Amino acid sequence: MKEHAVVVAGGGPTGMMLAAELALAGVDVAIVERRAGQELPGARAGGLHSRTIEVLDQRGIAERFLSQGQVAQVQSFGGSRLDISDFPTRHPYGLGLWQNQIEHILAGWVEELAVPTYRGRDVTGFAQRDTGVEVALSDGQSLHAEYLAGCDGGRSLVRKEAGIEFPGWDPTTSALIAEAELAEEPELGIRRDDRGIHSFGRLEYEIRDGEIVFADEGPIRIMVTESQPGHGGEPTLGDLSEALIAVYGTDYGIHSPTWISRFTDMTRQAASYRAGRVLLAGDAAHVHSPVGGQGLNTGVQDAVNLGWKLSQVVNRTSPASLLDTYDAERHPVAARVLQNTMAQTALNRPADTRLEALRDTISGLVAIDEPRRHLAGMLSGLDIHYDLGEGHPLLGRRMPDLDLVTANGALRAFALLHDARGVLLNLGEPWAFDASPWSDRALAVDAAYEGEWELPVMGQVAAPPAVLIRPDGYVAWVGDGTDAGLREALTTWFGPR
Ligand SMILES: Cc1cc2nc3c(=O)[nH]c(=O)nc-3n(C[C@H](O)[C@H](O)[C@H](O)COP(=O)(O)OP(=O)(O)OC[C@H]3O[C@@H](n4cnc5c(N)ncnc54)[C@H](O)[C@@H]3O)c2cc1C
Repeated sequence: MKEHAVVVAGGGPTGMMLAAELALAGVDVAIVERRAGQELPGARAGGLHSRTIEVLDQRGIAERFLSQGQVAQVQSFGGSRLDISDFPTRHPYGLGLWQNQIEHILAGWVEELAVPTYRGRDVTGFAQRDTGVEVALSDGQSLHAEYLAGCDGGRSLVRKEAGIEFPGWDPTTSALIAEAELAEEPELGIRRDDRGIHSFGRLEYEIRDGEIVFADEGPIRIMVTESQPGHGGEPTLGDLSEALIAVYGTDYGIHSPTWISRFTDMTRQAASYRAGRVLLAGDAAHVHSPVGGQGLNTGVQDAVNLGWKLSQVVNRTSPASLLDTYDAERHPVAARVLQNTMAQTALNRPADTRLEALRDTISGLVAIDEPRRHLAGMLSGLDIHYDLGEGHPLLGRRMPDLDLVTANGALRAFALLHDARGVLLNLGEPWAFDASPWSDRALAVDAAYEGEWELPVMGQVAAPPAVLIRPDGYVAWVGDGTDAGLREALTTWFGPR
């Protein structure tokens, strides 16, 4: 039986990000992926939000995505556009990039990090013991691991086999999405009517002055709301034609689909993200309507929260209890995503005078600065605040990507996070604190920073003399000019010494 420290079930965006984070920390990790290649049968996520771009920037790979996508103000809430160009981040925008491309870039990175992927086979079950997990594969092989991470999507076998409840709400609406040829050219763009929201577009597009401009030719991408929430069977060309005729009065001579699929607003979240040696991340842990484009983003950020913690546990630098902070921090983040997607689904319900009045009210509210910042902070992920106790506003929030000056020259704060280690950043007077016992997990850096400290949504905060930054970019300790509490923080997050 082959051994790995961690087996990741599922090589979608979450599984690949998690595997990369583990590999950066020197963990022997392998992915098991059902698909024989990385191709996705169908369109899914259409891009990345600001905090996800930052998280990729923290690892030095944001440019790979930015160079292939289209930067734009993509955020909206219930149909009202939310501009974040004034947010204090290097990436005050979203990135339009299809999930297929996102996965290809991540797969390239995972390959560079030499993560083995068992392709074309399923995880079919597992047995959990005190010392590890025996993972059964559909080709008859078994793998032994200390931990199994279920990143196997919304229908997660790992979640089910671990007996983790998945409470939530059944779908109230469903839509068919497809890519196909049409004999007659439809009007491209979004249509809202008393059946819901529908659209025609093209795979290739450009964003000009904030507006999508589709290519002149190529297959058409279709989204059409169904009159009844779908019942789970595989949708057919006949279903698509019927739904188009119900909405547009014609199916435009639709033929030759490359794929047809269905999404719903089913909203569920795993009751727990951990059962002993089994962990869940991404869609395996939470599913919701795609409105607002937050699913992939939440999964990638789950992976970045879990990766360094799991690596420290398997590398024996931290106790297994560190893993409990993963559920404690990430469960509330996804619960909030579930809530905002349900609110947006309600706002997007078919045209109705009273709902239009509510949409108008929301659109009036987001024209005011504070509600706009509140909603945009939430959808972009820039306002995420892990509850690490009382103290300086930076505590539990993302470290800004400051322009620092060190003895070795100028550098961006995010550059210090490229190898997924923590950073103890001293911006004040030299101090006597000896952080060397943790030097393998947290790099001590003396630096100067001249500018202001500004956080998204919150605004300006007092400049701290020192901060301890976790590998995921969140601030775990803020100095007050002394080293009070630093030893405890280093022990909590990087293990006892
Ligand atoms: C129409 C639509 C539009 C969307 N738009 C957006 C958007 O704009 N932005 C956004 O952030 N999100 C969006 N999403 C959601 C996004 O696609 C998902 O949240 C994202 O794919 C989750 O990634 P994941 O890696 O957790 O799961 P998945 O992408 O589902 O990956 C799971 C992987 O596990 C594999 N697998 C499954 N079972 C097994 C098994 N037993 N053994 C081995 N392998 C297995 C699968 O083949 C797959 O590769 C959209 C989704 C839909 C349907």
